[in-house]
Amino acid sequence: MLKTFLREFTFRRQLTITMTLGILCLALFSSLVSSWQANQRVRRNLIEQGQHITENLARQSALALLYASPDNAAEAVSATLAFPGVVSVEIRDTGQRVLLVRGSTRPSEFPKSIVLVAGASAQAVLDAESEGAWRFVAPVYSQPSAASPFEVQEARTERLGDVVVVMSKAALSQMTSDIFIANMTSSFSFALLILILIRILTSRMSRPLNQLSASMARAEAGVSNVRAVLSGPKDIVDMAHAFNSMMAALEDRIAAVSHAELRIRHLAYNDPLTELPNRMQFMDLLNQTIDRARDKGQTFALLFLDLNRFKNVNDTLGHDVGDRLLIAAGLRIRHSVRAGDSVARFGGDEFTVLLEDLTSTTAGSVASQKICLALAAPFEIDGHDIYVSASIGISVYPADGMDGNTLLKHADSAMYLAKKNNSGYEFYESGMEATISAHVQMEGALRRAEERNELLVYYQPKVVLATGALSGMEALVRWKHPEFGMVSPARFIPLAEETGLIVSIGAWVLRTACNQAKVWADAGMPLAVAVNLSGVQLRQRNFVDSVRVVLAETGLDPALLELEITESVLMEQAKETLSSLHQLKEIGVQLAIDDFGTGYSSLSYLKRFPVDTLKIDRSFVSDVTSDPDDAALVTGIIALAHSLRLKVVAEGVETVEQRDFLVRCDCDYIQGYLLSQPVPPDEFERKILDAVRRAQ
Ligand code: C2E
Ligand code: MG
Ligand code: MG
Repeated sequence: MLKTFLREFTFRRQLTITMTLGILCLALFSSLVSSWQANQRVRRNLIEQGQHITENLARQSALALLYASPDNAAEAVSATLAFPGVVSVEIRDTGQRVLLVRGSTRPSEFPKSIVLVAGASAQAVLDAESEGAWRFVAPVYSQPSAASPFEVQEARTERLGDVVVVMSKAALSQMTSDIFIANMTSSFSFALLILILIRILTSRMSRPLNQLSASMARAEAGVSNVRAVLSGPKDIVDMAHAFNSMMAALEDRIAAVSHAELRIRHLAYNDPLTELPNRMQFMDLLNQTIDRARDKGQTFALLFLDLNRFKNVNDTLGHDVGDRLLIAAGLRIRHSVRAGDSVARFGGDEFTVLLEDLTSTTAGSVASQKICLALAAPFEIDGHDIYVSASIGISVYPADGMDGNTLLKHADSAMYLAKKNNSGYEFYESGMEATISAHVQMEGALRRAEERNELLVYYQPKVVLATGALSGMEALVRWKHPEFGMVSPARFIPLAEETGLIVSIGAWVLRTACNQAKVWADAGMPLAVAVNLSGVQLRQRNFVDSVRVVLAETGLDPALLELEITESVLMEQAKETLSSLHQLKEIGVQLAIDDFGTGYSSLSYLKRFPVDTLKIDRSFVSDVTSDPDDAALVTGIIALAHSLRLKVVAEGVETVEQRDFLVRCDCDYIQGYLLSQPVPPDEFERKILDAVRRAQ
């Protein structure tokens, strides 16, 4: 009960109830005590009064007893009975015989006999007491006669009898209750006054506490910026200060937490680099788009985009440039599609686009072409012109999948093929996965090719056209797979470039070719060896150093090494490669532009590059005798090269007619099946070098 009281009532009410109870108890107690004391006093007085009355009566009853005549006491008895409270009067003689009785006696109330007062005292005693009355008894003595001078004997008093006076206690009870009521009234009035005062006081004292608790309640209800402004007792004001500081700290915390929450939410759903939605948000968007399309019976396309050769940008120009390229690419993609289409960075160099509400699937290819076109223009970052293209896979809802994961998987497969075919974009078609799995299988096999010694270098001779003298050879890599057989470099070099494996394969070819050229040079055949370079290798920061190391370790004269770079690579990476090419030239290495005519060289670049040789692409050479355009082109290229003081090699010469045409055009060198196919080194030595030796 006490617990409930403490728990459920306010502090002020508890204080009021406790004080009220206390004061009421006090008032009751004090009125009881003072009433009791007054009662005792009144009782004593009444008893004394009874005794006096009885004694008085005793004195006036002597004659009546002496003469046994009640009439002698009649007056005194009447006077006694007239006293308030005297109920009855009795006069008894010494033998306890009643001489006179007046008033209303209640004999059963008291015992019949009375206690005789011993001795000669005339004092009255309280003989008996009942619930409602007192009985007083006083002895009656004879009056001593006046002393005579003749009497020898001393005068003597004689006991004549007793008087009995019964007095009612009614007066006492009345007075007791009057006193009690008066006491109670005054005590309770006083208590009431005090209570009113206390109430005023407690209400004033508890006001700041109530204000504080009201502030706390508002804070608890979620009202913001609650502060307790109050004046009152020091400790409560201190509590209010503490509450205010606590609220301020709490609000700071809440602000920090909600800011962090917003940031976390933003980070969880957005890519911090490009500020585009991230994979998580994209998956949500995709699922929502599927729901909408299903409800409205619409179609939509999912574009899965991967930047080609992005890894190389990171590897060669650093992650900072790579990051900025991603931001710029994301912006271009965003601007290539409608505002309502969703663009997200899916991860790494992968972006996804949702083209909603399609009227026809051609919208997918139109958007893809736009994106490819937008990305084709070089990105100017940190003074570099960076070329990146994209491969896009497209899956269409509901034809290519009814759920997000299937649509994504199929768009990814289509992207994979677009990358492999270098076609820009591809729509998903069933059966694509089989092709991809063969591709993936080949990738795994290529990764192991080097350590399993499945790679070989073949050599194809190159001769001086005018004299027919052997001037050098081109090193061409071969992959002899136990299952796939001889895999053409046209198939596996793009794969190696895509996976980055070209770096180690290229390094191995360079080392093998330099070793071989050194062996033949040492054997008296100082032939220049041409090694093909991939753009990926060229972008490696330490590429020039790695060439230096190979030359130093193999001991080959740098003049006997020629590095071939395809025209398209050279043009795409013009700015980044220029300094590497100059450094290679400084080492003393020869440089050639491979597959010339296919890469739309700018003539100004051609002038600036420190190259020594142009290799006319086989596609032009093969038709020189049948196609006048090709004939004109080849003639023009040779004239142009000579005007820039460059040597010209014609690739893929298969017939005598082609050779004769090239002779007429003043071409410097030829290479092709007319002379020899690329052959393994031992065969090269046996057939070609031996023939040269014999001719010498
Ligand atoms: P490429 O550097 O232009 O090499 C010439 C290609 O033409 C070789 O093909 C060669 O076998 C072929 N060829 C030469 N003469 C004739 C001919 O008279 N008729 C015909 N039809 N073809 C002829 P291959 O060996 O299949 O190499 C293809 C391409 O692979 C090369 O073109 C080169 O770009 C690349 N490649 C080869 N080896 C390497 C290498 O070690 N590293 C790099 N990065 N690329 C390489
Ligand atoms: Mg080549
Ligand atoms: Mg070529």
